[in-house]
Amino acid sequence: MRALTETDIRGSFVNASRKEIADLALPLDFAETDWASRDFYGWRDRKAPMRGAVVVELGDRLVGVSLRRADAKPRTRAQCSWCQDVELTREVVFYAAKRAGDAGRRGDTVGTLVCADFGCPANVRRNPSVAYVGFDVEAARGARIEGLAERVRGFAASVLGE
Ligand SMILES: [Zn+2]
Repeated sequence: MRALTETDIRGSFVNASRKEIADLALPLDFAETDWASRDFYGWRDRKAPMRGAVVVELGDRLVGVSLRRADAKPRTRAQCSWCQDVELTREVVFYAAKRAGDAGRRGDTVGTLVCADFGCPANVRRNPSVAYVGFDVEAARGARIEGLAERVRGFAASVLGE
């Protein structure tokens, strides 16, 4: 994705109040972000651990979504619905996002099961284990990267009600 500034990020939210956006703490290593190897920017708020946020490009629009971690615990060995990583030691949790606009004000949310640390972009870029002779590692990796981008964009679109 393209490199974002803090202003881009704070200006992108579609489902958060001005106060929520102002209160959001960006990661301390924000300045060192490797944007080229990301499909979205996601983080857990270090000052409010139950809160998280993701920012993704939807066409030429930047969409930021504020998330709240749900109390419900997923079953053990749950799989992240975004990166679908098979590494079972990873912590996967439920996050809920208020829908944008009137739907959100009425209390509508969109839920998703995601890696707790939003490490999905790194997960899909790891080389997959070779499944069989002649297995195309690069193609498999490319398909996982494209799949992740598509699922996160789909999530942002459903928050927007599109
Ligand atoms: Zn993931």
